[in-house]
Amino acid sequence: MRILVSACLLGMNTKYNGGNNRDNRVVSFLLKNNYFFIPLCAEQLGGLPTPRSPAEIEKGFTSKDVLEGKAKIKNKDGEDVTNLFINGAKSVLSICKEFGITHAILQDRSPSCGYTKIYDGTFENNLILGNGILTELLKKNNIQVLDLESILSLY
Ligand code: SF4
Repeated sequence: MRILVSACLLGMNTKYNGGNNRDNRVVSFLLKNNYFFIPLCAEQLGGLPTPRSPAEIEKGFTSKDVLEGKAKIKNKDGEDVTNLFINGAKSVLSICKEFGITHAILQDRSPSCGYTKIYDGTFENNLILGNGILTELLKKNNIQVLDLESILSLY
């Protein structure tokens, strides 16, 4: 396996609030198995600053809708950041293709990296079923997203 990892999961300060989501269990999983891995942040690659206003996919829509131009991603200040998110996801995909990435480990709940759970667009911490923009794009391109909870449960 050659693995893309959400940069914030490895301790890089790429989160909207300038922090990270480092989880040593993910680091152990990668190092113990001697996997080739690349940490990337779609939102930074899309040109968003850090720190930045948090953003969510519009209520009632999915990441697929966003990728098809039917919905937007807006930040908490009401600004439309859709193109930055899409450009960032496309940049990550392009790097993945260049390095032969086959799998991904992604930070849950993010409008970019979220896998199976994302926020509902109200900025009230309500989770719904769904994927982030990057996750959706990776899946469309046959890059398999590994279940983070399953990996964490190994340690
Ligand atoms: S876009 Fe992904 S890698 Fe970047 S901060 Fe959000 S969850 Fe982490």
